[in-house]
This record gives sequence, C-alpha cells and structure tokens, in this order.
Amino acid sequence: MPTLDQGSVPASEQLFARAKAVTPGGVNSPVRAFNAVGGTPRFMREAKGAWLTDVDDNRYVDLVCSWGPMLLGHAHPEVQAAVQAAVARGTSYGTPTVPEVELAEEIVARTPVEEIRLVSSGTEATMSAIRLARGFTGRDVVIKFAGCYHGHVDALLASAGSGLATFAVPGTPGVPASSTELTLVLPYNDRAAVEAAFAEHGERIACLITEAAPGNMGVVPPGSVDGRGFNGFLAEICRRHGALFISDEVMTGFRATREGAWGLDGKHEGWTPDLMTFGKVMGGGFPAAAFGGRAEVMQTLSPVGPVYQAGTLSGNPVATTAGLATLRLATDEVYAHIASAAETVKAATSEALTRAGVAHVVQAAGTMFSVFFTDTPVTDFATASTTDVAAYAAFFHAMLARGVYLPPSAYEAWFLSSAHDDDAIGAILAALPEAAQAAA
Ligand code: PLP
Repeated sequence: MPTLDQGSVPASEQLFARAKAVTPGGVNSPVRAFNAVGGTPRFMREAKGAWLTDVDDNRYVDLVCSWGPMLLGHAHPEVQAAVQAAVARGTSYGTPTVPEVELAEEIVARTPVEEIRLVSSGTEATMSAIRLARGFTGRDVVIKFAGCYHGHVDALLASAGSGLATFAVPGTPGVPASSTELTLVLPYNDRAAVEAAFAEHGERIACLITEAAPGNMGVVPPGSVDGRGFNGFLAEICRRHGALFISDEVMTGFRATREGAWGLDGKHEGWTPDLMTFGKVMGGGFPAAAFGGRAEVMQTLSPVGPVYQAGTLSGNPVATTAGLATLRLATDEVYAHIASAAETVKAATSEALTRAGVAHVVQAAGTMFSVFFTDTPVTDFATASTTDVAAYAAFFHAMLARGVYLPPSAYEAWFLSSAHDDDAIGAILAALPEAAQAAA
C-alpha cells in the first residue's frame, strides 16, 4: 500500500495529485479521469465479486466491470486458481503453448470464425484485421461508422469528411492526414450512406469495420428493416463488392450473449463476418485479444502467407489461461443470470427516472445496456449526442455517493457479472430513486 496521510484529504485525492505529477491527467486511459463527469477519480485497492473497494475503504457495486471483461465478477476463485498455477509454471515462454491452442479452440467453437490469431489488445486486433483485409483484397479503402470505437488505430481515429462518401480527416492531433485519407466515416444504421459509398468507391474498398452492436456511443443496436438486420445488410453489400466485412466484437464478444452479438443476429439470419475481432472477456481480466475469420483469409497471414503480423507477448500463457478459465466457466446459466439481473436494473432505472420526470432511453444488446438522458430515439452518433451530459453527471455522482460505480461518461455501456447477486442488485435499486431526483 502507498504511504498516505491519514489526515482529512481523502486518499484518492492524494493519489490523484501524485499521479498527475507523473502521468498525463493522472490516468493510463482517458475515460478513467472523470473528465466527463467532474470530480476526483476513485483509486481502487481491491475488487472482489461485484464490489470495488477504494483506498478510502468506500465500497461500490461495480457496473463497469473493467469496461466489460469481468463477466464472472472480480477475483473469481477458479480463474484465480488457474492463473496462480499458470504463474507458478512461468509467465512467458516465447514458444507455442497449450493454453493458447485451447483458447483458440474455445473461440472457434463458440463463434463463426474458422481460425484465429491471438494478440494483446483490442487495438492490435482491429489494426491487424484491417491490414489483413487490405493484404487479402489488394485494396486500400476502409469504411467505419461515426461513434464506433475500434481502439486507437490511426486510420480509425477519424472523423467524417465534408460529405458522405468523402474521405475522413484525423480525429486527433498526431494522426497524419495520410493515415485517414483512405478511411470513409459514415453514419451508423444509414443504409443509403453505405450504398452511396459502395456505388462511388466499391472497387477500392478493402473492408468495412463495425462494432457488432455499438457500445462506445452508448449501446445503439443495429436496426432492422423489413426483418433484415443492419449487419446482415453490411455483410451482403460487402460480399457483392468483394470487400471484407469485419465485425468488431471486442466489447460484445462472449458478453452480449454466449456467442457475442453475432448470437443475436447473424446466427439466426444465416450470415457470417469475413473477419471478427475479440478482446475483453476472452482475456479474463488480462491483456489478451484476437482476430479471426474465414480460413482462406487467415491463411494469408504470416508465417503462411505474405501479410506480416507478430507479437512478443501474443498468446501469453497467463493471459490465455485466465481467458480460457473464464470462457469455460461462462455457461448458459451465467448468461441467463446476467440477462435477468440486467432486466431488473434496466426496469428499476427507467422507473426511477420516469418518477423523477427525467427523459431517458434505455437500449440493450443482449446483456449489455445503456441509459441515454434524452427523449430522442437513439440510432446513431448524432442522436446519441443529444444525451444530457450534465444530467448524467449529476446522476453518476449521486449513485457514486450511494455506493454504485457507473461508467464515468454518459456514452458508455453498463456491465453486470454473474457475481451480481441479490445484495449487489439490491444496493443498486436502493440508490436509484434519489440519484434520479438528482438528475431532474
Ligand atoms: N473495439 C471495441 C469495440 C472496443 O470497445 C475497444 C475498447 O474499448 C477496442 C476495440 C480497443 O480495445 P483495447 O482497449 O483493448 O485496445
């Protein structure tokens, strides 16, 4: 434990001041800094089951779950035991190992991918999938949707250009215009925009990447038109134009359902993505991610084919052991429990906000969901942006003060775990009425 004054300044504030002196914004990933909601981020010292404990000994029911990975809750005893045994055998061998084969087999068994390659972060997975798509097709242009986040890949940190089907501009300083000039950014759920982009640039489009069910602008489900889902439409138009359809399931994979978001649409509609990306849950709380897809495409990857990709810690034995243990424990019962807990929390949140007279829209993709503080139906980034961030900030802080840790941003998904038992759910329900009043 760090040395902290036992005086009146909370330990989180002391640590935040120290962190800011040595790390930009005091955090190692921006959204942790509470910039979107104001105030001092809580420094946690322990996470067990559904609960976080901060350095001031405050306890919180965790609705962030490490931004998705902790499907079984924190410090699951069987995952911990498997990890401890793996650590005792050595932490990185730089050779092929047993757990990476078993994790790959588990992922192939649960999803439509035929082959996968393991990497260490979701960013690496999407970056590599795009390189592979470009290498496989011999084309350069990439389509993405506004509001979809695929990690901090230069070509995907892009904002829409001046019109539909015009190339993008960098979304952040540090990304050269040359990195985004082959990226088209389109409005989500907008079929006409996708058709126009393919009509104009079809022969140059290597791939279209989308979150399988976007969660990074809050949860915005793919819409359905005459029973035809948006992802099925994308898969079909990509196939027609010889482009690859990349479904990013870093957030939704093994989380939205046992088979990810694909279990909500593609499985029933009878289409499969050419490539998929995974992360979060499949690492069981460790840095592990993957991209995979059709064997024909994956076989163009080195060392078999010409498209280069590699990683010193890829398939790390501790991370893959944690991921494998997590996926093996993630049974249908686990998903049923989380789905039912999610229904309870969604209904209670909506009821509390309605009673307090706060406009809101609750949207879900399987077990993950978001609450938008708006009365506008949310179908894309523009409508998601109508959410009242000040009202959310008030709600967030009122929940925090009552022992519930929500995502510190209005545009995030809320996650539950199999460890969210009656106690944890009861604590959330108890906090909601007053927090909803605070948002009014
Ligand atoms: N893709 C999606 C859909 C994500 O939600 C994220 C992270 O939140 C990423 C990619 C990037 O993953 P990572 O943060 O592991 O690089």
